[in-house]
Amino acid sequence: MSEQDAGTTTERPDVLDDHPFALCLTHDVDRPYKTYQSIYYAVTDRSLDHLKSALPGQNPYWQFERLMNLEDDLGVRSAFYFLDEQHLLRDRPVSDWVSPGDWKRYMGRYSLRDPDIIDLVKTLDDEGWEIGLHGSYESYHDRERLCREKSHVEAIVGREILGGRQHYLNLEIPDTWAYQQAVGLQYDTSLGSSSTYGFQYGDSIQRPFDDEFVVFPLTIMEVALPDPTEQLEHAWAECKRVLEEAEEREAVMTILWHPRYFSERDFPGFGDLYRRIIEYALDRGAWVGPPGELYEQLDHPTGSAETAESESSTECDLPENTAL
Ligand SMILES: [Zn+2]
Repeated sequence: MSEQDAGTTTERPDVLDDHPFALCLTHDVDRPYKTYQSIYYAVTDRSLDHLKSALPGQNPYWQFERLMNLEDDLGVRSAFYFLDEQHLLRDRPVSDWVSPGDWKRYMGRYSLRDPDIIDLVKTLDDEGWEIGLHGSYESYHDRERLCREKSHVEAIVGREILGGRQHYLNLEIPDTWAYQQAVGLQYDTSLGSSSTYGFQYGDSIQRPFDDEFVVFPLTIMEVALPDPTEQLEHAWAECKRVLEEAEEREAVMTILWHPRYFSERDFPGFGDLYRRIIEYALDRGAWVGPPGELYEQLDHPTGSAETAESESSTECDLPENTAL
């Protein structure tokens, strides 16, 4: 996918009248359980440590409390995007079972019917975090699937959600955005890279259809950075450089930290780096928060978000098997 494929317009949001730049905080909830990884790494690393963390009651990837406390300490909120992924053994063809990529993609999944996940979503929502949709691997080219997934997340929070990001940043421009808009999503944060960071995909919000649908380009995904476990100061220097550039450009930047990277044992350094980024941004007087909150403060060019919502949020055409 190339940069800026769609005829996009960029704008400078009003929040930048009072702040030198804006930092949007997001988390894709991919694999909150370490089960698949524990077995995989136990085999590949021959380390019993990994197997121990697959034992019942041990769940190093469940980092939500730590993450919430960290953001609470800093006085900020973020967005959590939840995934409604297919199940390998139930929903995928047998031919997929031998593909290592499919095992990775589908076996670490969680269910939106898991009581722990429902509690988590509700707690986050109650405490002021934004809940959004992490569109499943196939949903970027499947409007009906996207519609069902959105309605499953909304069934938990009891109202409409505003936006999210596609799993693996899968994006077909502009079709995926058109599907998202058609099912009632107002914004997307999938335009970006898992291997580079910076402003290659833009330094402000974009409106691919010149209407109220907004794209927040992704500026930094944690895995694209120099590994902070090995070289924390180097990783921080790179982040600081991007933050300084954000201020020069009066940018709207967005960062993605997957919750499992807050596991100090498995990924030391990533949590520190996240904290430093937010502290630096707050120090500089930046606007810091979830994309949905920034979206709500935008002046939209034509019509209103409410009108678009009532026109577009059609009932999903649900097929037979709609179990979560
Ligand atoms: Zn994902």
